[in-house]
Amino acid sequence: MKCHICKGGGVFDLIHHNLKVCESCFLKFFKRKVEKTIKNLKLFDKKDKLLIAISGGKDSMGLWNLLCELGYEVDGIYMDMGFGEYSLKAKEKVEKLGNKLSKKLHIINFKEKEKFSLKDFLKYTNRAPCSLCGLVKRYHLNEFALKKGYDVLITGHNLDDEASVLLKNVLHWELEYLGRQAPFLEAMEGFVKKVKPYIFCYEKETLIYALISKLDYLREKCPYSENSKNRRLKMALHLLEDSTPGIKLNFMKIFLKKRHFFTPLRERELRELVKSCKLCKYPTDREICALCTIRERIKYESSNCK
Ligand code: SF4
Ligand code: ZN
Repeated sequence: MKCHICKGGGVFDLIHHNLKVCESCFLKFFKRKVEKTIKNLKLFDKKDKLLIAISGGKDSMGLWNLLCELGYEVDGIYMDMGFGEYSLKAKEKVEKLGNKLSKKLHIINFKEKEKFSLKDFLKYTNRAPCSLCGLVKRYHLNEFALKKGYDVLITGHNLDDEASVLLKNVLHWELEYLGRQAPFLEAMEGFVKKVKPYIFCYEKETLIYALISKLDYLREKCPYSENSKNRRLKMALHLLEDSTPGIKLNFMKIFLKKRHFFTPLRERELRELVKSCKLCKYPTDREICALCTIRERIKYESSNCK
């Protein structure tokens, strides 16, 4: 198998791009692709104060490493969700990478922040673990980034993650979520700008990058990932991709072109809709935000149990 770019011995078959590449051409191709996404979509530039959410997995760890290679100054933030051995190992690996890159790493501990564990929270809500975990992370990472004056919060969501969320939103015709699904969400009152530079990168590519770069990322799966609905949707998309290479990328790109059809709320209307949570001041469209609703329920139930 020959590399299509340098004609040397090829190694990786990127069938979705109809491209076979050797290790060094893959690195150049992949870096260029991410840099193009950052520039074309105006995600951020070198003057911005950048923060990346790191989970310990190949995507966020790889993206942190890659952004540093591209010359961006990016601090990391790890949210310790208290999932026992899994979270301890993840934290260790994130700290190791932070030291290797000589970048600042912030750590937020869920139990210290909320006084209860995620398991306690789960008892008082109908949300699935991943939905609750996502809610809590979005809340605390956004709050932290704003408090510390960061311009942009970066996450390592790849094409497979985003395409499975898109499929879920299409299957349920979630028009509001479809209108909000984007590679970036601009900053607005109470919200820091959020961006996803890996949006057009297949998981296969982010894995190859992490392996070639010899990153010591967490191989174990989160204890809650087995039952996640997104996992099943990802498997369905893998089957489609096997028979029609490139379909995931097309699905996402065409959606982004036509996304304006699904945007029921213009930014101005959205701004008018946003109020501050009466309890924590976090932006919400209700009187009390989703997280405070669960906090209040826990407080009420635990005081009744005494
Ligand atoms: Fe959170 Fe679910 Fe991811 Fe585990 S798999 S870290 S619970 S979102
Ligand atoms: Zn609140």
